[in-house]
Amino acid sequence: MTRKLTAIATNHYDVIIIGSGMGGLVTATQLAAKGAKVLVLEKYLIPGGSAGYFEREGYRFDVGASMIFGFGNEGTTNLLTRALDAVNVSIETIPDPVQIHYHLPNNLELKVHKNYDKFIDELTKKFPHEQVGIRRFYDECWKVFNCLNVMELLSLEEPRYLMRVFFQHPLACLGLVKYLPQNAGDIARRYINDPELLKFIDMECYCWSVVPADKTPMINAGMVFSDRHYGGINYPKGGVGTIAEKLVEGLEQFGGEIQYKARVTNILMEKGKAVGVRLADGKEYRAKRIVSNATRWDTFEKLLPNNTIPKKEEKWQQRYEKSPSFLSLHLGVKSNVLPIGTECHHILLEQWETMEDEQGTIFVSIPTLLDPSLAPKDHHIIHTFTPSYMKEWQGLSSQEYKHKKEEAASHLIERLETIFPGLIKGLDYQEVGTPRTHRRFLGRDQGTYGPIPSRKLPGLLGMPFNRTVIPGLYCVGDSTFPGQGLNAVAFSGFACGHRIAVDLGL
Ligand SMILES: Cc1cc2nc3c(=O)[nH]c(=O)nc-3n(C[C@H](O)[C@H](O)[C@H](O)COP(=O)(O)OP(=O)(O)OC[C@H]3O[C@@H](n4cnc5c(N)ncnc54)[C@H](O)[C@@H]3O)c2cc1C
Repeated sequence: MTRKLTAIATNHYDVIIIGSGMGGLVTATQLAAKGAKVLVLEKYLIPGGSAGYFEREGYRFDVGASMIFGFGNEGTTNLLTRALDAVNVSIETIPDPVQIHYHLPNNLELKVHKNYDKFIDELTKKFPHEQVGIRRFYDECWKVFNCLNVMELLSLEEPRYLMRVFFQHPLACLGLVKYLPQNAGDIARRYINDPELLKFIDMECYCWSVVPADKTPMINAGMVFSDRHYGGINYPKGGVGTIAEKLVEGLEQFGGEIQYKARVTNILMEKGKAVGVRLADGKEYRAKRIVSNATRWDTFEKLLPNNTIPKKEEKWQQRYEKSPSFLSLHLGVKSNVLPIGTECHHILLEQWETMEDEQGTIFVSIPTLLDPSLAPKDHHIIHTFTPSYMKEWQGLSSQEYKHKKEEAASHLIERLETIFPGLIKGLDYQEVGTPRTHRRFLGRDQGTYGPIPSRKLPGLLGMPFNRTVIPGLYCVGDSTFPGQGLNAVAFSGFACGHRIAVDLGL
């Protein structure tokens, strides 16, 4: 009894946010900017979650994300720029002229240039018989993007906002309603027949949605396939971790608080309502509203009292499953390993059939090509990762685990030798992460990258918004609408902040 009384903190907040991923931080800063008393509780030592960083031997490695959308200067879909602006902070960014350099089966070598026509021309040269279909498919993506890019992106759960936006932009709204239940694959097949080109469109989707085009919502595809040519891909100077650091700086300037090493173990409920949280060290905090930036699986299966997974969540879990996690290699290499003209982001796949397999597609990011300050002089960072499931890494002794990591890393590096000959000889530093690492450091169930449809679903219609069936409890981040990616979770943060501000009358 005494322990409990002393553990209860006296502070009472408007909003408590569990986790300082990009979704959590955008929610926090949006609310702090509106005058709410906000507390962010982060279990790790620094903010950012999957958009965090770590430092080793003079290298500053991005944990995950490094192909950053949302840093444009125009339109309304530049949500990272807007999130920073809202709390009077900013970041210098470095434009990347090429989104991805693809190295695909049957020698399909292709770059996605920031210049739209240049990209379309390059793709058309590979598939001249599909000239019209290529243009029509990607032009249709622009229609989606143009609808999104005229309206302020806030909570779709707020009727007055919906009405206002509808009266301001009726055609754009009707356009979005049309695309909301559609998937990119259906639209691609409407215009394109060549099976290999359709496989390329699958890869265009898979490399950010981790599902082929048939399961990728058209709204998300429209955003990604157009914004890369509009706002472009821009790398934050100082590394991806600076985005979270700057948001925290802005949050604190607006009176918000953040605590690190603060692992929430329970969401406190009273009369069926979420009213506070308990930390691993026993401290309790209360607030009018609780937001979870943990995944939906972690939130509803681990943080709530036993046996209280709401029916609606059970249904969601039937529709969406956990995507695989990743096997990640963070490499420091001598700069002469990279031929002149090497691009920052690469995708490598040797056989189309293995695109979705365990350790099938390889992703590569070399951020030091844009910001050399992240590595010692004459060295580069190569962050490479490939999908991997937790089940591959369980039930091993520590010796077996270590051995398996070394073997998997060597195999990955050997495959990369095809695009970077001499890589093995140029290695200076190597660190391997597995799904176990992702689970441990990012606090994500099975280390998952996020939810993916377990079967073909009607576009984005099944993705939940921020409110949950538990009064007072909201979710934000990649297991809410519109899904994975920094700009997408920023959208979710704007929407969550907006809905809560309306609920609190701010
Ligand atoms: C390898 C990899 C590469 C990627 N590449 C890209 C890319 O190039 N471009 C892109 O846009 N996106 C990319 N992504 C995806 C992107 O990083 C994520 O979609 C996004 O960062 C998820 O943000 P979030 O807010 O949902 O949550 P997270 O980043 O998962 O953050 C959640 C936070 O909550 C904390 N937390 C969880 N539980 C608790 C608890 N109980 N108590 C306290 N704190 C808790 C965690 O420690 C974490 O800090 C990549 C992801 C990975 C893993």
